[in-house]
Amino acid sequence: MVNILLIGITVAPCLSAINISNDSINSNILNFSLFDLKVVSISFTKSSQLDILMNQHLDIIDIKDSEITAYVNLVQLKSLCVLGFNPIILFENIQEMNDYIYGSEFLQFHTYAQMTQELQEIANTYADIAQLYDLGHSVQGRVIWGLKITDNPTVEENEAEVRICGCHHGNEYMSVELPLLMAWYLVQNYGTNPDIEDLVDNREIWIIPMVNPDGREMGTRYNAHGVDLNRDYGYLWGGEGGSPGPFSQPETQIIRQHALENNFVLSLSYHTTEAIVNYIWNYKGQPVVDHDVVVQLSQQYGSHNGYWVVEGYYWYQTRGDTNDFSYGCRGDIDWTIETQNSNIPQAWDLNRVLLLQQSGLKKPIGLVLLILRWGITTVCFYLVLTMCILEQMGMRSK
Ligand SMILES: [Zn+2]
Repeated sequence: MVNILLIGITVAPCLSAINISNDSINSNILNFSLFDLKVVSISFTKSSQLDILMNQHLDIIDIKDSEITAYVNLVQLKSLCVLGFNPIILFENIQEMNDYIYGSEFLQFHTYAQMTQELQEIANTYADIAQLYDLGHSVQGRVIWGLKITDNPTVEENEAEVRICGCHHGNEYMSVELPLLMAWYLVQNYGTNPDIEDLVDNREIWIIPMVNPDGREMGTRYNAHGVDLNRDYGYLWGGEGGSPGPFSQPETQIIRQHALENNFVLSLSYHTTEAIVNYIWNYKGQPVVDHDVVVQLSQQYGSHNGYWVVEGYYWYQTRGDTNDFSYGCRGDIDWTIETQNSNIPQAWDLNRVLLLQQSGLKKPIGLVLLILRWGITTVCFYLVLTMCILEQMGMRSK
């Protein structure tokens, strides 16, 4: 995520008093705040030590050589000491780290309250094409908002449905900004830009900028139960990321229910911090039924902004993620788009056109994709394959 180099707030926390009651250790709700999580580096010398560290369910920022950088709460900090590690505190809390990394830029990222206010403003100002829905509540009771942008937003019309969501991981701040910017862009250009008007009139576009509002407020990847929501989905769930069972968390249950109530055909899920168009599958390296179309659209995205286009599994395997659920259970072609986590205007410039393009496409049964699947695909298959290989050869390896 973020490389933190030699930031010398060196403390030996294992030598200082860390008083934690057994009650807090046994608590399964991590009611910590920004000010409770510390950023530490932990050295290890053997692979067996790395295995032990990986089993501690740390919120890892970076792994490099023989050192892990991670967020830890006081309970985890104590556990690390008990296990014989000597974590060095780089930042006393996430706020301190964000100030160091982003400076005043951090204030440009929307908090939950600011995002809520803007979504309400959009729905109030552009009520004829935008409707805001309370999709349900997070662990800590925050509303997860879904903004529906279409003509006749209160009516369920026979139009292709698209979903754009962000912030499965609370510390991936840019992933809130892009869906929110997309919402503003659509409503502000409706009526003056014929392409946008056509898009809004003929699609139902759902924008969910903050799937994990508790994580965003805490500044952590996880939700308030300490679960990685992007490992909690039910399609070939694998128990990763602290998830105790398929759809164990209210946030993923909400996204599941919302997907059941709508027939999404294409979806985009924003994350940070890489520059990657990550397509299905994530749990296995095998082409999906719509592989040719998926690759074509993925290449289209990547060719515009230079992002690395890769099937998720071949970046790294994950189980229980959003994309696999969307396609595996609902036939919805869903991407993970990894973007930078700073410089909002630049990130928006790199993704705006693609957001609009992907939103404008229909299901594989639609004319555009039929052409892609049965016409161009056959002719271009070897060309695309060659381009993929060449492109990936030129990119960094994982
Ligand atoms: Zn993420």
